[in-house]
Amino acid sequence: MKAHKENLDAIIIGSGIGGLVTASQLAAKGARVLVLEKYIIPGGSGGSFKRKGYTFDVGASMIFGFGENGYTNLLTRALKDVDEKCETIPDPVQLEYHLPNNLTIAVDKEYEEFINKLSDLFPKEKEGIRKFYGACKKVFNCLDSMPLLSIEDPSYLFKVFFKAPLSCLGLARWLPVNAGDVARKFIKDTELLRFIDIECFCWSVMPALKTPMINAGMVFTDRHVGGINYPKGGVGKIAEKLVSGIEKLGSKIRYRANVTEILLKDEKAAGVKLSNGEEIYADIIVSNSTRWDTFGLNSNDKGLIPRDYVPKNEYRWSKTYKPSPSFVSIHLGVKTEIIDKNFNCHHIIVDDWEELENEKGVIFVSIPTLLDSSLAPDGKHIIHAFTPSSISEWENLSREEYLTKKENYYSFLIEKISKIIPKLDQNIEHKEIGTPRTHRKFLGRFEGSYGPIPNKKLLGLLPMPFNTTNIENFYCVGDSCFPGQGLNAVAFSGYACAHKIGSKLNINDYKLPD
Ligand SMILES: Cc1cc2nc3c(=O)[nH]c(=O)nc-3n(C[C@H](O)[C@H](O)[C@H](O)COP(=O)(O)OP(=O)(O)OC[C@H]3O[C@@H](n4cnc5c(N)ncnc54)[C@H](O)[C@@H]3O)c2cc1C
Repeated sequence: MKAHKENLDAIIIGSGIGGLVTASQLAAKGARVLVLEKYIIPGGSGGSFKRKGYTFDVGASMIFGFGENGYTNLLTRALKDVDEKCETIPDPVQLEYHLPNNLTIAVDKEYEEFINKLSDLFPKEKEGIRKFYGACKKVFNCLDSMPLLSIEDPSYLFKVFFKAPLSCLGLARWLPVNAGDVARKFIKDTELLRFIDIECFCWSVMPALKTPMINAGMVFTDRHVGGINYPKGGVGKIAEKLVSGIEKLGSKIRYRANVTEILLKDEKAAGVKLSNGEEIYADIIVSNSTRWDTFGLNSNDKGLIPRDYVPKNEYRWSKTYKPSPSFVSIHLGVKTEIIDKNFNCHHIIVDDWEELENEKGVIFVSIPTLLDSSLAPDGKHIIHAFTPSSISEWENLSREEYLTKKENYYSFLIEKISKIIPKLDQNIEHKEIGTPRTHRKFLGRFEGSYGPIPNKKLLGLLPMPFNTTNIENFYCVGDSCFPGQGLNAVAFSGYACAHKIGSKLNINDYKLPD
């Protein structure tokens, strides 16, 4: 068994965007960092994989946080801080909804255009629509007027309060509020409230009453301010460039490095053990794995923290939040002629509002080659589509049952997508099907889950944990931490985590970033 220290300030377990932003921020502050990734590429759910000339996004394709101005453009900022940049392609439309009762609407980058279109569909609610999205704008303006670092650090809170006192007070007011409650203050029409539900569901996988207003304010405004921008070459480029920035600063990443245990000394985190028996020590350990996998919660036999040392508050967390369902995903290579070049890149299909939160209730469709044709061979488009599916549907099946079920879900998805892309089934050149088991295996995520969702209606974002844990020198980052799922959200978590560790290691700039 090899045991070594390598003079590391921090080990980051996992190279999801949350882990990589933590690592790159720490490296930029002068720390020596090692990222350990169990898979063969970086990025986790925000990575890309290549097959037969196609570049497919693993999960995320609709990217927030690539704006140029303000403080909420965390992907642009994280890359810039390590002297890197992604070339991006602006999307004129965030997404197009195909909803029950033939309700179809595209969300334009231009705020006024979207608000006017929605008001034309619901003329009696014109005022309520402006008030709801106006409230979202207020939340966003608070967030966008201050550097987003660790809310756990009293000296940051003190400084930021003096820099932007009204924004701080504004955010404190919105923190315990959910978007659905705000919507109900201004809007009465039940179909419009359903629309606000799907607006939330498509990134939070929860209806509006359970979606924190802070996240809604961010998403519903940033899409019109910074806009939705696709990284040229695929979403995996973000992770690749963060890795390149980390390495240029003298820190390292290792792939196929599966951490099986966090080593404790005097009840403090001191190192990690890999599946090959190797032990590596550092002053600080950060887990970018989900909380269920980190602490062995719910039905997990074993986590990374030995059972006897799991803090009690982590068990309480697992009662407050549950894992959202996973997805069945299909990645297709199709002939270009079946998709008009002016077709929008992202689509959501819902046939029955009652099914919204159920298995196969929503279909997500993205065609990133409409923005970046380099992702597919000449004459081809890629389509990435997915629908929520629970791991329980996929357990205890024979190989034959599993394969048949995969094909059934595939046919279901093709039939649904054919409503917006006719002749799809005769024009498929390449196909891949992933199930919740695939997500669990290749993304290392408990039950293949998209992330934590409230067990019941909660007070906005208040109960979501920050980065510090009750084990000294041990931190968590990623979508099991404040403020939750999405690339820009986990980038926020990464900034906050690196800031909190930076204040412990005394390597933070005294000044707030410009
Ligand atoms: C199908 C799908 C579609 C999505 N669409 C969007 C979208 O359009 N826009 C958007 O913003 N977000 C989207 N998301 C959500 C977004 O991708 C995630 O919220 C985000 O990428 C999660 O980042 P993370 O840092 O928490 O970690 P993850 O992406 O989960 O990465 C964690 C990493 O840690 C590694 N790891 C875990 N355990 C260990 C261990 N023991 N040892 C070593 N390595 C380990 C894993 O292999 C993985 O690489 C989507 C997600 C999915 C699944």
